[in-house]
Amino acid sequence: MKSYITTPIYYVNGAPHIGHAYTSIVADIMKRNRTALGMEMMLSTGVDEHGQKNQEAARDLGMQIEPYLDMRCDEFRKVFDLLDVDYDYFVRTSREGHKKAVAHMEQTIFDKGLIVKHAYTGIYCKGCEEFKKESDLTEDGQCPLHPTMKVEQTDETNYFLKMEPFRQKLLDHIEANPDFVHPAAFRNELKQMLSEPLEDLCISRPKERVTLGVDLPFDPDFVTYVWFDALANYLTNIGWPEDGYQDWWAACEHLIGKDILKPHGVYWPIMLMAAGLPLPKRLNVHSHWTGAGGVKMSKSIGNVVDPHEVVEMMGVDALRWYLARHMRADSDSQISVELIRQTYNSELGNKIGNLLSRVAKFSNKNFDGKVPVPGPLTEEDETLRRTVMQAVSGLAGEVAMPDIPARVHVLVTAAEAMNEYIDHQAPWSLFKTEETRERCATVLYVTLDCQRVLFEALAQIIPTSAAKALAMLNAPEVAVPWTPQLDKLAGGTQLGDILALFPRVNAPEAA
Ligand SMILES: [Zn+2]
Repeated sequence: MKSYITTPIYYVNGAPHIGHAYTSIVADIMKRNRTALGMEMMLSTGVDEHGQKNQEAARDLGMQIEPYLDMRCDEFRKVFDLLDVDYDYFVRTSREGHKKAVAHMEQTIFDKGLIVKHAYTGIYCKGCEEFKKESDLTEDGQCPLHPTMKVEQTDETNYFLKMEPFRQKLLDHIEANPDFVHPAAFRNELKQMLSEPLEDLCISRPKERVTLGVDLPFDPDFVTYVWFDALANYLTNIGWPEDGYQDWWAACEHLIGKDILKPHGVYWPIMLMAAGLPLPKRLNVHSHWTGAGGVKMSKSIGNVVDPHEVVEMMGVDALRWYLARHMRADSDSQISVELIRQTYNSELGNKIGNLLSRVAKFSNKNFDGKVPVPGPLTEEDETLRRTVMQAVSGLAGEVAMPDIPARVHVLVTAAEAMNEYIDHQAPWSLFKTEETRERCATVLYVTLDCQRVLFEALAQIIPTSAAKALAMLNAPEVAVPWTPQLDKLAGGTQLGDILALFPRVNAPEAA
């Protein structure tokens, strides 16, 4: 079975930030989950290289456009590599094949008489790269998303895609496919957007204002509106319009932040309908990250979380863990370097990593560097094993984006149960007398085998650390499709080198 997951393509006019990191990491987690289940995967991420903002960002740095785009593109690629995002396709909208396909889509829609040319007077936000209505603006007449940018009064002739003829059809599609938009709060928001007649969508920009983009195939004085061009990547990545894209397209799920629901929920489906193409399978929408205390992140407040800084300080899995664990489905979630550090120390360090190194080190020292051979199991052993199997079962099936935090949380609960079990069984005491030494071996075995099962599940969330842990247990091979199973760790197996998986990170002041 195929699954095609897309992240938005990111504007390269600034450096990659936590929002980019989040969507891409979640996409990667979904990919690893489905890969583990045996599905054939395609994950695309990448950059949007067109539009006025990019053009101006290059100019501001005094750079030619091509070297500027190459530089930014490299930055983004490096961040995704740093974050262990295992993408299959990296999108660059400057690719010739993409540009040709965009022009083909426009020509197809134009030939159906659905694109019209007319003058338009209105307010334009450069940040959004779109026209605004008075009702979209704040009380002092600015774009709510770009309050410092100043909207501009614009009067120009452009090409427009007719939207209203498709509004009811799109509403019908949403009704008939309750899974089309996830979670429900955003489905309702989208229905709200579609509850009133839609204005035509401006799909061009005159070249005297913007040159960086795809030429309109039917009028060389214009380039394509950057959103039209960018959205088309989801199809051009899989080879559209050439044959062979259809199976991937039918399995396509977009991941987006709530700020871009309108382009993905209104513009894109209508573009597809206008071109006579089917809609993607699903739109997964997430909320945003704010600083601690719910304060918007900004450079002036100094609460911006820089992915590089976090990775340098605590490793990539500290960041992946926090992001996977703490996004709430229906409202914004808080993040700060300090919150990440606390979660890293208390959950990954104290609850998950320390237990593995304690038990593995003790086995290493007292059982000849080997996984102890267990004797008969007690009811307490079986209870722990059931708890762990129950906890990992959440990742042994397909996980939808809004369910990730809960599926990860339950793994922490399983780790807590393991810690309680070890404290209660106290293998260190059991080892001291000959009569209880077999029981000691059993307790260590049960714990190490449960750890193996836990880290097989964690491989979907924190792949680098999970691989290290499984190597310590000398159980690196995880079968695909993955079905969690007990007792796969053989007693007598030689243990690997025991490392601290999540070394404690102190607060910068205390360091
Ligand atoms: Zn704006």
